[in-house]
Amino acid sequence: MSGENSRTSSNGAVQTINSVGMGRLHGKNAIVTGAAGGIGLETCILFAKEGANVLMADISAPALEKASAKLQQLVPSAHKVETQVCDVSKETDVQKMVEHLDSWGGIDIMFNNAGIMHADDADAVDTPEKIWDLTQAINVKGVWFGCKHAVLSFRKHNKSRGSVINTASVVALVGSATPQLAYTASKGAVLALTRELAIVHAREGFRFNALCPAPLNTPLLQDWLGDDKPKRLRREIHFPSGRFGEAIEQANAVLFLASDESSFINGQDFVVDGGMTKAYVTPEGPPLAAPK
Ligand code: NAD
Repeated sequence: MSGENSRTSSNGAVQTINSVGMGRLHGKNAIVTGAAGGIGLETCILFAKEGANVLMADISAPALEKASAKLQQLVPSAHKVETQVCDVSKETDVQKMVEHLDSWGGIDIMFNNAGIMHADDADAVDTPEKIWDLTQAINVKGVWFGCKHAVLSFRKHNKSRGSVINTASVVALVGSATPQLAYTASKGAVLALTRELAIVHAREGFRFNALCPAPLNTPLLQDWLGDDKPKRLRREIHFPSGRFGEAIEQANAVLFLASDESSFINGQDFVVDGGMTKAYVTPEGPPLAAPK
């Protein structure tokens, strides 16, 4: 991205500013789960700009309506944008969501992005079993259901190509020092199932990749850090760039994985972390980059 289509914000993140893209997803039908906020919403906006028809799915009806209104405002030229309330941990909901696109000609892109990280998630001793089960039900079973019904839809509509992107996390690659065992285990499972499906369905033309985001500058993170500047700095020091990522920087990667530009990229752990998982930061060392 360059020129009039983008701008660099004060923290270094590049954002698109035009309401129309380059038609990279022209005519494609996409489902995005967890579409009401964060990565999901930014991805829906980007997909719509790039010419896709988008079904925005989320468990929260009011949040979904707000998100859809924001998209319509930012992308007045959007083709088809609809919303669907869906709990991804319920197969009947996922099936209904995917079958909703039968009248559009079936799906081309499935972004299984909905996920939770529960406040009571802890270590091996203190993680409540019900939090473990809930986390696996949404983060793992929800992704499996999304993959399963995407494959069924690709086949039903004789698609020779299909792209599925599943949101994992960097915690699937490097352990988290702040214990969140159920979440970490769930994201490891997402990587494993993604690479297996990539192999099994490759001959059908269906690609499966996993997105591995590092912690993002989301309202969730802001709530957690509050105005505690030292706490924020202790976290930012782990990023070579000296800052957290932005949801749009994840969405840009999802757009690439969804588009035919990534046609030979399959089964990958696609890490979008500003280099965090490659950095070795000694506690006594100076910050890698001057904090903003
Ligand atoms: P978010 O909380 O803004 O978005 C998650 C969305 O999922 C919400 O809109 C929520 O309503 C929805 N959701 C929750 N349970 C659902 C269910 N059962 N069915 C359908 N929708 C449901 O957070 P986000 O940061 O945009 O998270 C998106 C994905 O990215 C998640 O899978 C998360 O684990 C992952 N992730 C986030 C970060 C981060 O720092 N924010 C880092 C790594 C990975």
